Amino acid sequence: MAVLGGKRAVVTGGSRGIGRAIVERLARDGAEVVFSYASNAGAAAEVEKAVAGAGGRAHAVRADLAEAGAAERLMESAEKRLGAVDILVNNAALSFTPTPLAELDEDLYDRTMTVNARAVFLTLRHAARHMPDGGRVINISTLNTTRPARGIAPYAASKGAIEQLTAVAAMELGARGITVNTVSPGATDTDLLRGTNSAEALETVAEVTALGRLGRPADVADVVAFLAGPDARWITSQNIHATGGLA
Ligand code: NDP
Repeated sequence: MAVLGGKRAVVTGGSRGIGRAIVERLARDGAEVVFSYASNAGAAAEVEKAVAGAGGRAHAVRADLAEAGAAERLMESAEKRLGAVDILVNNAALSFTPTPLAELDEDLYDRTMTVNARAVFLTLRHAARHMPDGGRVINISTLNTTRPARGIAPYAASKGAIEQLTAVAAMELGARGITVNTVSPGATDTDLLRGTNSAEALETVAEVTALGRLGRPADVADVVAFLAGPDARWITSQNIHATGGLA
């Protein structure tokens, strides 16, 4: 049987970038996946099609995590479709053009915290109530929580929050054999990265990365798949840096 055969997974933000690669990899490993997108229905349909073409099962659900109740509705609709959810990957996040603190407005802060951190709290709370024993939670953070950068205060704050949620949930859910970990990517070639950095800046990033290139979404998805699988049963409350050695 495939390594995740019989498992049911939810991936937030699975229509593009790293989330898409996670959906494809978990489905390839045998899991049935419900994934969310915010507004890009075309991209989500493409992912469904690609997974089906490879013999897997993935179903898109629209859930703009900035909207009240969206995270809970996503988990409920996933359970209706799949049954109890064994694997939860909190990947969806928004970013923005780096902006100095002095010029940031509080609406951007609130929106970033709502999508990137509050929604993770809500899906984690759902997992605490409903996830079967032996489940897996993987939250996607960023290298920027340990390598501070200018202009990203709300983003960094939201990711710091989910790292703390990871640590507390790991303590609370461990007795049920549920592991809760963070994966922190470095610069990974996606719309989010391209939308917030110039091509020249990205060349410099590749130069200061030990492995000499930007990350690819699959580089991160493969780490998530490992943590979602049985061989990672003794790893919990960790923050795995999947960065290619970005200095
Ligand atoms: P992308 O911008 O490429 O994709 C973002 C995904 O999240 C899409 O599926 C998008 O849906 C969804 N999304 C965006 N806004 C919302 C919202 N309001 N509600 C629900 N879903 C939403 O991002 P990446 O793949 O680059 O990033 C994935 C994760 O990796 C994020 O947590 C990010 O912080 C983290 N990360 C990324 C790095 C990088 O270099 N790329 C580096 C470090 C961390 P839709 O298609 O509908 O817009």
